[in-house]
Amino acid sequence: MNLSTRKVVPTPAHIVELERLGDEIAKLSAHLDAATARLLDLIREFDARGGWGNGFASCAAWLTWRIGLDPGAARERVRVARALGSLPRLAQALAHGELSYSKVRALTRVATPETEERLLEVGRAGTAEHVERIVRGWRRVDRIVEARESTRRHRSRTLHVCQDEDGMVVIRGRLEPEAGAVLMKALEAGREALDQRRRDVPAETPPDGLPRTGLIIADDPPTLGQQQADALALIVETALHHGIDPGAPGERYQVVVHVDAQVLADADAPGQSVLEAGTRVSAETSQRLACDASRVVMRHDPAGRVTDVGARTRTIPPALRRALQHRDRGCRFPGCRLPFGQGHHIRHWANGGPTTLSNLAMLCRRHHRAVHEEGYQVERQPDGELRFRRPDGQLLSQVPPPATVPTDPVETLRAQNYARGLHIDAQTSRPAWFGECLDLGYAIDVLHPLVASLRDAPAT
Ligand SMILES: [Zn+2]
Ligand SMILES: [Zn+2]
Repeated sequence: MNLSTRKVVPTPAHIVELERLGDEIAKLSAHLDAATARLLDLIREFDARGGWGNGFASCAAWLTWRIGLDPGAARERVRVARALGSLPRLAQALAHGELSYSKVRALTRVATPETEERLLEVGRAGTAEHVERIVRGWRRVDRIVEARESTRRHRSRTLHVCQDEDGMVVIRGRLEPEAGAVLMKALEAGREALDQRRRDVPAETPPDGLPRTGLIIADDPPTLGQQQADALALIVETALHHGIDPGAPGERYQVVVHVDAQVLADADAPGQSVLEAGTRVSAETSQRLACDASRVVMRHDPAGRVTDVGARTRTIPPALRRALQHRDRGCRFPGCRLPFGQGHHIRHWANGGPTTLSNLAMLCRRHHRAVHEEGYQVERQPDGELRFRRPDGQLLSQVPPPATVPTDPVETLRAQNYARGLHIDAQTSRPAWFGECLDLGYAIDVLHPLVASLRDAPAT
């Protein structure tokens, strides 16, 4: 074969044209990634400074409302924005348009300040698909390490109860974090109940219904250790008295509020609203709790003793609640799409507001608080639509007007990026990969710092 006869074929015009188009796509994408880095910086600052706290449940809920992201994407933006706060190298690579948002999003799921550097290399070398696979493999290792850790903790749970020579019982143990949290919560509740009893109730006449303990009320206030011991005695006595049954989740943390009828109708009226444990709550809070609750009307004699207890009724009967759920399908507050909530009386029932569909609106717990306690207002328009206002009277629109965009947004973006000293071309975000096969097992072995510890420790 005669090499000199080989002809060099010029690239056809339409291929050249398509390559130019491809470069244009790569360049603009890198510019957009650089702009996304700035967007994430702003979101991180807005989130940290609580800018969403004016009626929204979270920064993601605010983004969904204000810039129209779907809830999943909004949560992801906030997560990535927060993560980048402690991952400066990845943040910088995104800001320079070298790593795409997709790659950064995947890498921030596993990166820590210690592993950031090597993961950045993964991001530079591989395609988005490689990065995704490596991150998945990395998480598998993390999960194995976590599972071993939790198995180890679970196995080490123990409780020793033994008797001292003077007859006292000594307790020593290790509980799993969840069980320990419940214990601490119960001890706290027990201490509060005993404290309340010490203050309110003469020791010789405990009211019916309260579990009795053989508590000796001394004049000296008990130490924390003594209070804990008394609380534990109260807890076990209560448990044995009521049968050991944690109950349905909804019943476990029931709150009972005692409120005078006139306070429900008018927050400024004199009267009481107190929780069962004796904590005073604001009139607005008791109005919210009463808005959608089980209600028991009690009559008191002038000395405050209960003389008559009516039947327990729901403020909103179950059939009406189902109709409300069917109509509203979740919280109606602008931007909130929580699929469940509480029935809010637009005009409170204590003020003569009827319990009818037209006087009810479904609100999540967070937004129910916003309208009762934070000064947000809601009214129903003659056409049936709801209108929400901020505490300052400004209307909260269901969908905010879009921001104004310059006539040539792409040129403006480029100009801004160049003004920030960024030099982006069609090669800026190109991975170093040349088509070789990814050996995932080898890659994770080399990259993940905990793989060695798994190899050394015997499997459990
Ligand atoms: Zn309400
Ligand atoms: Zn809501």
